[in-house]
Amino acid sequence: MPIASPIWHPFTQHALQKVLPKVVSGKGSLLTLADGREVIDAISSWWVNIHGHGNEKIAKAIYEQALVLEHVLFAGLTHEPAEELARLLTGEQDKSLTKLFFSDNGSTAVEVALKMAYQYHWNLGELNRHVFIAFEGAYHGDTVGAMSVGGHSLFSEPFTDLLFKVRRVPFPLTADSEESALAALAEALRDDVAGVIVEPLIQGASGMRFCSESFLAKFSKLVKMSGVPLIFDEVMTGFGRTGEWFAYQKIGVAPDLLCLSKGITGGFLPLAVTLTTDKIYDAFLSLDRKKTFYHSHSYTANPLACAAAVASFKLLKENESLFKQMEMRHLKRIELWKQSPHLKNCRIKGTIAAAEVVQGADHYLNPIGAVLGEKLLNRGVLMRPLGNTVYILPPYCITDNELDQVYKAVAESI
Ligand SMILES: *Cc1c(COP(=O)(O)O)cnc(C)c1O
Repeated sequence: MPIASPIWHPFTQHALQKVLPKVVSGKGSLLTLADGREVIDAISSWWVNIHGHGNEKIAKAIYEQALVLEHVLFAGLTHEPAEELARLLTGEQDKSLTKLFFSDNGSTAVEVALKMAYQYHWNLGELNRHVFIAFEGAYHGDTVGAMSVGGHSLFSEPFTDLLFKVRRVPFPLTADSEESALAALAEALRDDVAGVIVEPLIQGASGMRFCSESFLAKFSKLVKMSGVPLIFDEVMTGFGRTGEWFAYQKIGVAPDLLCLSKGITGGFLPLAVTLTTDKIYDAFLSLDRKKTFYHSHSYTANPLACAAAVASFKLLKENESLFKQMEMRHLKRIELWKQSPHLKNCRIKGTIAAAEVVQGADHYLNPIGAVLGEKLLNRGVLMRPLGNTVYILPPYCITDNELDQVYKAVAESI
């Protein structure tokens, strides 16, 4: 009998899942389990891994940085790995996104954006703006502020009374629901609004739900016209996932605040950034110290994480074609899913392919996901369906052969 572990795992019901497979190593798209099995990481270890596991350039960058400076506080001090990363990241952005604030995960990148948008108005003396607008079905992280702007779900249900008030707009999955979503936004944009937060083009955690580029462009222009800060949470969509470096580039409208994390270090170390404009940054410049942005985490801009992110950025720059071509590679294979009577809504956006299993309800608690996940693991593919939504979100280094295996494993397992 294995000894019970003292670890309480995330998003894990330990009453149902008593023994967790142990991972001992990873290389490229493959993970090796303690029992010797190799499995394809078809979901990039929850969307963080972009170049594959065990990338030597990133590993080396971390090692070399660790020999020089492992960490130092970031309030009142700076260091070159952070400066270099900030230059690279702002350089890749719309000219308007000139300033960058560090934190260490996607939820905190969102908290920072929300607090910046909120305090922006406060600093300007607009004290009536205290409501955020967000989409139904959104997911922005698991800390309390991020949960508040996330859609109501079973994740947040016990905390309902704790969450701050948010005005919701429907997320249009089809063209015929776009007009009413825009009308709902126009109605919601009252003079008490502090900011609008969006997962651009793809709602990830709520089931890889896509909206159209033209809708998001119209939506974003409406927000921009109102003067209210527009926050794009690109924690998942950033770094190539939609086929462009950033999803907002596909719609041609830049947000006022941009949250990035997940892929930022290539999946090596926790790091996040919130980018913003001179306009928002300038509202915090004052001789009045109350207007300072008083937000920090102990490991803000950790040099090792920044060094990993610099190395990952350069790799991605050299290998842009990998994420740009992924959509074509999915297109060639998704026929296999479309032919299955057990799958519906087969869809692709950039590097992501998704579909719903026909059986049961379209819901996160649909047990089919967990059953399927286990079956797939036994067939050598690591996936974690979101309820009855199966999706492939692979590291960009995945080989044709591996991608074939993933599609086949899903089609045959259901
Ligand atoms: C994962 C995710 C987050 C939260 O990031 P964590 O690093 O898990 O805190 C926020 N927003 C989006 C869109 C995400 O996909």
